[in-house]
Amino acid sequence: MSDNEKDRLGEKLHQKEKAEEDRYFAEHDKELLEKLREKAAERCPTCGAALVAVERGGKTTHECPACQRPAR
Ligand SMILES: [Zn+2]
Repeated sequence: MSDNEKDRLGEKLHQKEKAEEDRYFAEHDKELLEKLREKAAERCPTCGAALVAVERGGKTTHECPACQRPAR
């Protein structure tokens, strides 16, 4: 194998590693975005008021105190 071929192989491996790294960070970003979305869900999508936790049938849901309806 010539040095030139070795270099190309190394470059290919490097690109593969880079792709896996990118995928890892993409997944990581997705998790962060989902967490942020959960946080955003704590506000009423209709009026923007902070939601309150309400217990209903043993389950805790978040409702808007102004709209009086469960947030999705
Ligand atoms: Zn509301």
